[in-house]
Amino acid sequence: MLERRHPPVDWAAGISPFETLVSTILSQSTTVANERRGLDGLREVLGRITPESVAAASESTIARAIWHAGLARQKAPRIRACAREVRQRWGGSLDPVLALPTREARDALMSLPGVGPKTADVVLAMAGDHPTFPVDTHIARIARRWCIVDRSDYKATRAALEAWTPPAKRMAWHLAIIAHGRELCRARNPLCDACPVRRDCDWYRARQRGARRGARPGRPAARSG
Ligand code: SF4
Repeated sequence: MLERRHPPVDWAAGISPFETLVSTILSQSTTVANERRGLDGLREVLGRITPESVAAASESTIARAIWHAGLARQKAPRIRACAREVRQRWGGSLDPVLALPTREARDALMSLPGVGPKTADVVLAMAGDHPTFPVDTHIARIARRWCIVDRSDYKATRAALEAWTPPAKRMAWHLAIIAHGRELCRARNPLCDACPVRRDCDWYRARQRGARRGARPGRPAARSG
């Protein structure tokens, strides 16, 4: 239902795996619009965003170019260090990494400076079609509301979501749930009355039961598997 409401838009189509990595680093702690402005700024200054062009630029040049994405002084050295590593270790392309089995590819990506599991999973899913389920803040919140997982750590949430989804659907559902989190299932005051999946939502049903009892809802137990 959510996939129909939010048909997947493959934002990584037409850009290289390295640009997908840069874009994902830029997206940390900022909005999609500002991440895009940062990427466009870098493209404007460097021409093409490649490991070679980024490694050849100074940190201050990169920081000025990505300024709109925020945290530019932290992100610029990370992006430049990633570019240098990709050049040195894989000849300037992430293709050899993306050709590895998912777990090895994830470990290789996470060995890059400033690349954590979420960034690695986004690159794996969006640039390499790996059947992983990247978890962002919206997805983590909704997985808990749906009682798919009752923990908040990244690996447990990803494992629970992967157990819950067919591999071929993971990228589409990752994108649909993010869109749902932005549109209706917000952290504060989710718009449940407009939500098309409320009948299947454990959090909503618990809240309804609590309202009927005239008490605050208890937290429903998490499903296993
Ligand atoms: S019913 Fe509310 S809490 Fe549940 S998925 Fe919909 S918006 Fe989120």
